[in-house]
Amino acid sequence: MKKALCLVAAVALLGFSFDPALAAETWTPKVAAHRGASGYLPEHTLPAKTMAYAMDPDYIEQDVVMTKDGVLMVMHDPQLDTTTDVAKKFPGRQRSDGKFYVADFTLPEIETLVLTERFDPETGKPVFSGRFPGDSGIPFRLPKFEDELKLIQGLNKSTGKDVGVYVEVKEPAFYAREGKDITQAVIDTLTKYGYNSPDSNAILQIFDYDAVKSAREKGWKGELAMLVTKNGQHLTDDKKVHEWLMTPEGMAEVSKYATIYAPSFALLAVPDDQTGYKITGLADMARKNGMKVHSWTLRKDQLWPGFKSMEQALDAAFKEIKLDGLFSDFPDEVVKYLRKNGMKPAAN
Ligand code: CA
Repeated sequence: MKKALCLVAAVALLGFSFDPALAAETWTPKVAAHRGASGYLPEHTLPAKTMAYAMDPDYIEQDVVMTKDGVLMVMHDPQLDTTTDVAKKFPGRQRSDGKFYVADFTLPEIETLVLTERFDPETGKPVFSGRFPGDSGIPFRLPKFEDELKLIQGLNKSTGKDVGVYVEVKEPAFYAREGKDITQAVIDTLTKYGYNSPDSNAILQIFDYDAVKSAREKGWKGELAMLVTKNGQHLTDDKKVHEWLMTPEGMAEVSKYATIYAPSFALLAVPDDQTGYKITGLADMARKNGMKVHSWTLRKDQLWPGFKSMEQALDAAFKEIKLDGLFSDFPDEVVKYLRKNGMKPAAN
């Protein structure tokens, strides 16, 4: 309250009238292009990132994994099975669980792989049938993390815009078991590219609570998002930790390190027989602990349970829950919505 009064006084001195309604109108939630414009082109390819860039998001997302020879690559899964032709090119190189791990392949090997739209390795069928054809024959490749940073920085230079990066460290505990410190490697690379400061246009995001804590010890000074999900990580059993992160105690602990609390949208709004959906108290609890709230993932071809349209989902996200940021496979739709509702400046 005291701060607000000071602001009013300062504004009055400058000869402007302070209008709280106007301040509310200038609230601008952030849009993160989830794996690039992944609703339109195969996820985490440089073309998908370039297309996303042209859609004016605030951030473009990178999921970062590591090769056997220690090179950081942008790819969602630590395994290569559902987005590449690894099974055809390297038969017999899978682990005992039947999967091909990025951590078992060198960069020259990875660079031979062709990336496609996500498919079910059992049936070969696409996960999202309306998306880019899986049999296009176009040799999309996995990008190196550094190449993607160069692409975004290059576009920032040539367009004069300032699109940020929203970088996820994938499965740090798995990589630790492989003898690799992926969190440190990602922080070092972001530092090399000028991103490691509180006001840099980069956010680090991690599902692993210990890694969120250690990111500060490893020197990360920027925004830090604690990703929260119902079932925990894929390669490390931490379901209980994620349950704890949704309690007042867990929330208070994580707020010592994270600036952003980033749960799956399914934890913010749950289906309801009477009303379609019901808002949970999780976002409010995170805000009370001083964190911003970002969530994921909005897809027009796979709406959240309980929602009937993109408009309804976006209204719930921004007008009811008042998210500070949202990941979408269709960043253009979120940008269009925010502009229409006065929550994002118009295009130049
Ligand atoms: Ca991610």
